[in-house]
Amino acid sequence: MIKYKLQCKKCSKTFDSWFSSSKEFERIKKLKLLNCNYCKSKNIDKTLMAPNLKSTNRNELSINENNIKELKKQIRVYQNFIKKNFKFVGDSFAYEARSIHYSNKKGGKGIFGRAKIEDIRELKEEGINTQVLPWFEDKEN
Ligand SMILES: [Zn+2]
Repeated sequence: MIKYKLQCKKCSKTFDSWFSSSKEFERIKKLKLLNCNYCKSKNIDKTLMAPNLKSTNRNELSINENNIKELKKQIRVYQNFIKKNFKFVGDSFAYEARSIHYSNKKGGKGIFGRAKIEDIRELKEEGINTQVLPWFEDKEN
């Protein structure tokens, strides 16, 4: 995961946001899925990262095997949480999200599943908010 300090070009306010990678940031930005937290403008860009003054060891800055293991561990923790508390709908995520949204069901179980980035954009345009999470299939089981 990468934390970027983003700046709104309209109101000049800055805020932090997490992305799975710099590529992911570029992709989301291109699709205009970024909004200013304050004025909702889509004119957002990342600011230059401030150098981390506390870190003198350059190696700390690169992702090594241990970081990936640690990251996978954290992802597994919330995958388990999601699996326990949300209903898995597989590839019909966009369909299920719409049916919950339009039938105005309340208090039901949340859902999770797979969706294409185009589906997520369409859902957003319809006012259905989704959360995109990094996901990996557990091959150890
Ligand atoms: Zn703004």
